Amino acid sequence: MACLELPKNKIKRKKDKKEIGQEKERKTQPEREKEEINKYLEKIYEPNLRNLLTGCYQCGCCSGICQLSKVQRFAPSKLIYQILVGYEEKVLSSGILWECLTCNSCLQNCPEDVNFAEIVRNARYKMRKIYNQNPSIHIAHDGIYLTISEIMCKPFIYPERSLEWIPKNVKVSEKGKYLYYVGCLPFFKFEFNSLDSIAASSVNIIYKIEKEPIVI
Ligand code: SF4
Ligand code: SF4
Repeated sequence: MACLELPKNKIKRKKDKKEIGQEKERKTQPEREKEEINKYLEKIYEPNLRNLLTGCYQCGCCSGICQLSKVQRFAPSKLIYQILVGYEEKVLSSGILWECLTCNSCLQNCPEDVNFAEIVRNARYKMRKIYNQNPSIHIAHDGIYLTISEIMCKPFIYPERSLEWIPKNVKVSEKGKYLYYVGCLPFFKFEFNSLDSIAASSVNIIYKIEKEPIVI
């Protein structure tokens, strides 16, 4: 029996755990996150949207309840119909499914338990992968609100919190009975000028019952 010897440089060596660990470390945090998101998306991805819609009998309840349909032309039942009759490509390439709030109100009222938000999540995966759509140009205000919320919940980012919005008449303390957590509200001032007045009014109300509330 002939025995074939591979040249040493062609033999693929299995990476040991240490090397895999080092490779992982070399990746930046955003790269690792992107990888994890892609893995998750692949796991939940249903390539044929029609498979998720077969129960729909076009009663229209979803379009009636959808809050988006009250302010703009957005009717989930109509979009479902278009996908069912073969216009999926047209629906996806239009980018309209970026508009859905994925609030699930329609699911709660659907007699057939059609999960439109789940369809939208799958469709968005396709819209990014196949149609190369950039979510930030479709999502309201370039997705800045989502970005801020994401930044606020990352344990490794510490955005500087300005407490300048606290009314001058209010003293705050580090200890006390009442605590007001302002969250990300003041960060939105860049767009809505008087938004932090909500926080200021809330602190003023707390101040009526606690002379030095805690504010974080
Ligand atoms: S409520 Fe359900 S069954 Fe009725 S049109 Fe919407 S998705 Fe279809
Ligand atoms: S999940 Fe989308 S389609 Fe359904 S009610 Fe919310 S915004 Fe409307």
